[in-house]
Amino acid sequence: MKPPGQTQESIPYHTYTEENVASTLETDIQVGLTTNEAKQRLEKYGPNEMSGQGGPSAFRVLFRQIANALTLVLIIAMAIAFSAGGNYGEGAVIGLVIITNSTIGFFQEYKAEKTLESLRKMASPNCRVLRSGEFTTIPTRELVPGDVLSFENGDVIGADCRLFDISNLECDEALLTGETVPVTKSIDLILDPNEPIGDRLNLVYSSTSVTRGRGRGIVIGTGMTTEIGKIAQELANNDNKPGKTPLQKSLDKMAYLLFLLAIIFILIVFAVNRFKINQSIAVYAISIGIAVIPGGLIAVVTFTMAIGVRKMAKERALVRQLPSLEALGSISNICSDKTGTLTQAKMVLTRFWLPESGYYHVTGTGINPTGCIIRLVDSAREMIITPENMPSPIQRLVETAALCNMAMIKQDDNSKEWINIGDPTETALQVFAHKLNSGKPTYTTDADPSNTYTLAMEFPFESAIKRMSVIYKEERTGKYIVYLKGAFERIIGCCTKVKYGDSEQPTEQQQLESLLEPQIVFMASQGLRVLGLAYRILDEEMVKSGPSAWTRENIEQGFTFVGLGGIYDPPRLESRSAVLKCYQAGIQVHMLTGDHPATAEAIAREVAILPPEGATNEKRSNSRLVMTAGEFDSLTEEEIDALPELPRVIARCSPNTKVKMIRAFHRRQKIVAMTGDGVNDSPSLKIADVGIAMGKAGSDVAKQASDIILTDDNFATIVGAIAEGRRVFANFIKFVQNLLSGNLACVLVLMIALAIKDDQGSSVYPLSPVQILFYTLATSTPPSMALGMEPATPEIMRQKPHSGGLFTFEVILDNILYGCVMGLLSLLNFVLVVFVVGSGEIGRNCNQTYSDSCAEIYRGRAAAYAAITVLILIHCFNCRSLRSPQWTWAQLKDIYSNRFLFWSVISGFLLLFPCIYIPGLNTTVFRHKGISWEWGLVAADALIFITLSELYKWTKRRFMASTEARVDEAFLNQVEHS
Ligand code: ADP
Ligand code: MG
Repeated sequence: MKPPGQTQESIPYHTYTEENVASTLETDIQVGLTTNEAKQRLEKYGPNEMSGQGGPSAFRVLFRQIANALTLVLIIAMAIAFSAGGNYGEGAVIGLVIITNSTIGFFQEYKAEKTLESLRKMASPNCRVLRSGEFTTIPTRELVPGDVLSFENGDVIGADCRLFDISNLECDEALLTGETVPVTKSIDLILDPNEPIGDRLNLVYSSTSVTRGRGRGIVIGTGMTTEIGKIAQELANNDNKPGKTPLQKSLDKMAYLLFLLAIIFILIVFAVNRFKINQSIAVYAISIGIAVIPGGLIAVVTFTMAIGVRKMAKERALVRQLPSLEALGSISNICSDKTGTLTQAKMVLTRFWLPESGYYHVTGTGINPTGCIIRLVDSAREMIITPENMPSPIQRLVETAALCNMAMIKQDDNSKEWINIGDPTETALQVFAHKLNSGKPTYTTDADPSNTYTLAMEFPFESAIKRMSVIYKEERTGKYIVYLKGAFERIIGCCTKVKYGDSEQPTEQQQLESLLEPQIVFMASQGLRVLGLAYRILDEEMVKSGPSAWTRENIEQGFTFVGLGGIYDPPRLESRSAVLKCYQAGIQVHMLTGDHPATAEAIAREVAILPPEGATNEKRSNSRLVMTAGEFDSLTEEEIDALPELPRVIARCSPNTKVKMIRAFHRRQKIVAMTGDGVNDSPSLKIADVGIAMGKAGSDVAKQASDIILTDDNFATIVGAIAEGRRVFANFIKFVQNLLSGNLACVLVLMIALAIKDDQGSSVYPLSPVQILFYTLATSTPPSMALGMEPATPEIMRQKPHSGGLFTFEVILDNILYGCVMGLLSLLNFVLVVFVVGSGEIGRNCNQTYSDSCAEIYRGRAAAYAAITVLILIHCFNCRSLRSPQWTWAQLKDIYSNRFLFWSVISGFLLLFPCIYIPGLNTTVFRHKGISWEWGLVAADALIFITLSELYKWTKRRFMASTEARVDEAFLNQVEHS
């Protein structure tokens, strides 16, 4: 075989006979590939998936670790250390730090990507292939060119194939060609190699779906060489999502700012020393450089994100794009699907209506087909309908429900539980038919074949036209009967007669509409999805002209209306409380659905998206809370922007309406999460700030366009994910706060102490380079990571969504104030030890070597170092909350709630002792020496710091604007009391 790209792309397989295709691809249509050969080809061609979807690239991850501003600053610091001569020790330590830091970062990020990849595999689809003579089910990503693939109605095709065996095969290729009508396939040879894709009828394409029939084909292209792969490539190239998230932007900006600061500070150091740059001054400069850079930051950020992602996966939300984790926390509006997301998608037909006799109740829940059909004759009497006493209109209704239906229910042999295969709406109808012993199998299978109905043609359900029809041949009479069902406004137009008893009466469309309208409103307002059912017996002429004349337009007319079915899809139990949680958190929930407005409205009330009926509110009486897609689409952008509030519910929604809605939100500066499952939802998933695809009901294409996949399709999971996003973001603030104020403290000490010079006029540093490195990396990084793991505080879902970006005024102010206090206290220790208690002897060359004349300086350094270390560890607890007190008894009792924090603080403190007291290590590496009474100073510093911190927080609580979400109490009251 030729190299992959070439083989798969350039050969026009539609011009090949099936034998030629098989021999070119070295395969056999009877046996398929051998398992071994398939394995080899998988290695050769790579997995059958879109690129960027594959495993993590170690190289890319490594590159990201090294090519970032923070590492670059460290590298420069290292270069200075080496070039200043004689400071190889310091240079080597920095080098070591770079390596450790990048290695830890690398493994963390690599692991995070691996996690993502394995999560992705979990969500990936399967397909049926012929391998070594037997059909087996394998993950679609393992398909290779030459495989023999089998598919049928409802399947999504896993790869591009040349067909060789089909029966009634039709595929929906809208995704590729924009053609909404399914394409009827054939296996005939096509001669023109340049035939447009849509006309290569003997090929089927990856990611398109089979709408009818079944077929087999030889795989001719996989992964990025499929037609959809080529489109995916284009999509990836003009990705319209902004490249970086607010957090990444803040961090980048911060890195460059700090870089600039480091240079300025270094220049100041040189200037103060009149540019007489000797070894000792160079080292001083390096120390400043190191102090300015929060060296542990990248590792902590990655670590926190990875933990967040793993946690969310456990809670059934797979994060496909890491940055969306952070965007989640700033979401202000959620647009959710109804069916399956807010509701259980366990639909049950609970009532039906016939023109002649009115309403009937159907009892029973779930897909277990037990229950009875009751008709209220009057308030005292009811009548039970049985298979034996079914009047003819009910017979027709049940027949239509059972046959215009591709779903199946069956009883599991072992557990005796009923399971369903197929669409939930159709399942509900099938269950209903079974309750009258008239399920599809009773029509289609019989010992006597002349007694059955045979499917002749199907026009499948499409959400754009919201109806479907099927043609059956009644073998006994030889008649062809068409059954139709769908949204009522989409079937009225197809009906010209109404069934009354045994007769059919002609009707005007107007008449039919006014007959049905009140029933629809009545049923829909109870939250029922209403379907109309109708049938048509094809006349002689139509039968004679045969299937070739049976187009959808020809067939879907002249029906006899039979009745309406009302299907209830109960809301998920957790939906309502999840919606209420959103309100508390300052998030508005919207429901977009294909259902009738009245149905949508009723469900929206049940799940608290709308206030209960009758409750009015001055403020929004002039705003339309429920709109149909038609109404919304007819508004201009200006009109939409003039609405006081965007609609809470959009009914009869189409994918385009979703896009229009997101745009409207963006014009209002809102951050939106949008859910979707269909292939044509991908545009809206892409432009939404967080696109959420359904893991169970969603198409692969929707999943690929999404940022997050819900493995349980559940609305409450979205809210959980938002809480997690907020937690992660809040924790970012905590550790950035901790790292930055710690660094500021360090820099402050060094800059002020520039004034302390020895008799040769060089500055003597109060903290040594190794002390500083140890402080920024070994002491403060582990507790910072622990801050990243902080559990969510109860108030997190009562705050406003954050506005993105880390550095709010409050955070900056915090950093400066805490940093200054810590730095000044530490410096004060140095000054007290050397100049107040000590004799003030500065000695000579104390930056490089220890001599007796340096004793006071060395003690001073140890005291300053002990203070700054203890203070930053105390500050870790301050950082647990921006405003609430941390040094109260209640909080201290809870100190072990984050045990990583607890132990990293304890060990950070204990590490002080070996550093200060181990002889040799203290004087030659850390350049300080053992202390005694100075610990009293450190204790005093700690007390002062805690007192000041609490005073500061109290002031903030008292005087700063609250960050709590503004909750519409009146609305919540209405909702809660309904
Ligand atoms: P949703 O947004 O709730 O998923 P759908 O697009 O599935 O909405 O359904 C929209 C409307 O189409 C329904 O209200 C119903 O009237 C009709 N419908 C849904 N499923 C079928 C089906 N299998 N056959 C015929 N009509 C259907
Ligand atoms: Mg649906």
